[in-house]
Amino acid sequence: MPYRYETHMHTCFSSACGVSTGAEHARFYKDTGYTGIIITDHFYGGNCAVDRSLPWPEFVDRFCAGYEDALCEGQKIGLDVFFAWEQNYEGDEYLIYGPDKAWLLSHPDVIHWSRARQLEEIHKAGGAVIQAHPFRNRDYIKHILLAPKYCDGIEVANTGNFAYNDVCALRYAREYGFFTTAGSDNHNSAKAEPARLMGVETDERIRDIKHFARLIREKRGIAPIVPAGRFDADLSAAPSLEVFWIDEADPQRYIPTRRDWLRDGPARHAV
Ligand SMILES: [Zn+2]
Ligand SMILES: [Zn+2]
Repeated sequence: MPYRYETHMHTCFSSACGVSTGAEHARFYKDTGYTGIIITDHFYGGNCAVDRSLPWPEFVDRFCAGYEDALCEGQKIGLDVFFAWEQNYEGDEYLIYGPDKAWLLSHPDVIHWSRARQLEEIHKAGGAVIQAHPFRNRDYIKHILLAPKYCDGIEVANTGNFAYNDVCALRYAREYGFFTTAGSDNHNSAKAEPARLMGVETDERIRDIKHFARLIREKRGIAPIVPAGRFDADLSAAPSLEVFWIDEADPQRYIPTRRDWLRDGPARHAV
């Protein structure tokens, strides 16, 4: 697969934890040999750098600033740059690929959507939803929330994770037959090590972000880029935090997993 893309990254313009500008990221990935990058800044529910009290059009304008900075540089140096975002619910996060800035401007209610509604509307817009780093454990994450009903696939490996988080994700992906992507979750290209970068390779050159979303929905033409040895840890390893299935239709909402944590989950949504 000849084309290489970063699928998960943050800029200092739009993510509170971002360090690099869009242009700095673009130059780094161009030098590293990537065909393109997808900017996925932290959206309204997450660690967004934009003031949430701004009128919606202004919020969207500023939210897109990191992407636009990267795009401008990408056009100068020959790197394809695409727009997406990462939405947070209760520690469970989703990469949203497909819709553009104009769509955001005309959908201000996006910030109130449940996970189920998000999936439905993103599909209507020709997009796709990937649950990001589903098994991440950090001190600010209390438990693992899995959402097979509310995504089109999962991020099976993420440079910001511990490797054993990704091993759990691989087991989960196999059990559910998920389509998988990988991403670096790159916040700082000045410190990023090319050997640890993730992302995806594709058969076809990505024309626009809807094209990328369509490949995810059609489960074809995309292979995760994962450094060798990443999945070498013990495949029987259990997640390090308590795991719940999210079911928004159930009054309990979080359904605790049983001993055989992988096999008792709810059915996936019909793709
Ligand atoms: Zn971040
Ligand atoms: Zn992220």
